[in-house]
Amino acid sequence: MESQALSQIEIPREQLMERVVALCKRRGFVYQSSEIYGGLNAVYDYGPYGVAMRRNIRNLWWRHVVELRDDVVGLEASILMNPEVWRASGHLANFTDPMADCLGECKKRWREDHLDDRTRCPECGGRLSPARQFNLMFKTFIGPVEEDANVVYLRPETAQGMFVDFKNVVNSMRVKVPFGIAQQGRAFRNEISPGNFIFRLREFEQMEMEFFCRPGTDEEWHRHWLAERQRWYVEVLGIAPERLRLRPHEKEELSHYSKATSDIEYDFPFGWGELEGVANRTDFDLGAHQKQSGQDLSYLDAESGERFLPYVIEPAAGVDRIMITALVDAYREESVRGETRVVLGLHPNLAPVQVAVLPLSKKESLIGCARDVQSLLRRRFRVEYDQTGGNIGRRYRRQDEIGTPYCVTVDFESLEDHAVTIRERDSMEQERVSIEALVGRLEERLD
Ligand code: ATP
Repeated sequence: MESQALSQIEIPREQLMERVVALCKRRGFVYQSSEIYGGLNAVYDYGPYGVAMRRNIRNLWWRHVVELRDDVVGLEASILMNPEVWRASGHLANFTDPMADCLGECKKRWREDHLDDRTRCPECGGRLSPARQFNLMFKTFIGPVEEDANVVYLRPETAQGMFVDFKNVVNSMRVKVPFGIAQQGRAFRNEISPGNFIFRLREFEQMEMEFFCRPGTDEEWHRHWLAERQRWYVEVLGIAPERLRLRPHEKEELSHYSKATSDIEYDFPFGWGELEGVANRTDFDLGAHQKQSGQDLSYLDAESGERFLPYVIEPAAGVDRIMITALVDAYREESVRGETRVVLGLHPNLAPVQVAVLPLSKKESLIGCARDVQSLLRRRFRVEYDQTGGNIGRRYRRQDEIGTPYCVTVDFESLEDHAVTIRERDSMEQERVSIEALVGRLEERLD
């Protein structure tokens, strides 16, 4: 058996990121944006397997945050909004990072609050300029005339959509506080020092939920969502719990709207990094929009007759960061009889392909049988069919690299005994199963 000759290869931590990045390009997960023109800094495209994986991340978030609950509804707000939104939310005044320029040789630009020594350039040791505040919102113009009156912003977070549509949702749906509004969508930030591949981007995707609750119950709901969101990473995405931690923000680090925030962080090869922030935004946003718009945004409790501005607990996550986390967490190399095998040990929930169907040869009778197996399986699983040349071992390795948990091989015997071989990614062990029992057996294994 292959599995008996299998041993894990130690990967130096500083090389892990590089190898994941190489795999992403080689296997169609992530490409540099507009690469043939030299790319665009901190903007990426997602290839076929990347798209499949991102859909899985979004769907799993939606399933657990919206569909499996009675108290959360969905929203899709637009990316462009009335600029008054950003005045009220505080983004025009406060959504800034401190930027410092290297005055030495390299002239690099740094985000000052990310530097250990704020006087010296980490690259060349040159002196740094005093920090200036830099607003991270991208500006553009609406209509043909580029003048100040026509300025609009690309949203830097999806959250404000939920606040400005709060009244619409309350009036059109039968929601009662406590309830949440969830949204997934693109956000844009002109980050000063983006990087670490798809960790810090200028165009990215958020999954945010604003949970409106009665003041006084906010701390309890904050604890609920912190526990719920951590559970999701471990149980639903299969991320190693020992590489996750919860980090409460220090007082001075809190955003202008927050009473308390804790970040769910992952131990990346480049250090601990935020995957998701879970903030207690109080009634800051509804209060600010009520004031700026002159509209009453209070909530009327029909039973008690009380009117109040709800407090808000916000779990805010990023699709791109979850994707890089899952990839880094899953990447491993093994030695199998002197050869290196690259494996993405992705959780079946996340794997772009759950089952690959591989006919042993290109003989017509085999292809017919393999195609039948494919149609049988694709009703229930994400299936890929691969009859390309190359021996079966090479096709298995390719599936290992994209994280496919199971391969189903159709061979000449299959035509006689109506059975196929299931080959497992992690152990490489094989099991012969009748075609009739195949769906049930795979369901058992995948669940
Ligand atoms: P950071 O401190 O890393 O800049 P943040 O605290 O500003 O992040 P939030 O405003 O809380 O981030 O955004 C919520 C989530 O959106 C983050 O946890 C992250 O997953 C994602 N996100 C934010 N900025 C980026 C970015 N530039 N690139 C990719 N994802 C991002």
